[in-house]
Amino acid sequence: MSLLRSFFPDFARPSVYELTPARLAEHGFRALILDIDNTLVSPNAPADDAARSFAARMREAGIRIMVLSNNGEERARSFAAALACPYLAKAAKPRPDGFLKAVELLEADPSSVLVVGDQLFTDIFGAHRAGLPALLVDALDPAHEQPFVRVKRVLECPLRLAWRLSRARNCRA
Ligand SMILES: [Mg+2]
Repeated sequence: MSLLRSFFPDFARPSVYELTPARLAEHGFRALILDIDNTLVSPNAPADDAARSFAARMREAGIRIMVLSNNGEERARSFAAALACPYLAKAAKPRPDGFLKAVELLEADPSSVLVVGDQLFTDIFGAHRAGLPALLVDALDPAHEQPFVRVKRVLECPLRLAWRLSRARNCRA
């Protein structure tokens, strides 16, 4: 995979909450590595009903989930506790180590694990560095992002444009 393409997601949906066990099974996915902020909830918001019921739906269908966050220990721990799933905090995404450790904790075959997140530079690029497929979701609440994340959003713009152009080319081919 070229460096540029490693920033392009393999899948994209408006929201993580569109994922269903049936759709995941179609692609052979049995486990999810989930980002927290702007993927499952607004930045720094606690787990809400949507996140809890999503976790329950996946669990009932035998899809393993865990959260992988660059946030500190307490934020990730309390969020994962509400979802009753394992977690890794201070993951230093896009370093691949956290993703690889997450695959180990999930006890899943890497080819059956899908990474879900809202940021190209951390979630998508990091997943690909670890050899995992990645799904990009729209940020739930971009208005409440921290300043350094807003800077990254600006830097994402040319990559998002390149990704859209490559998709358009692929559709024509
Ligand atoms: Mg995020």
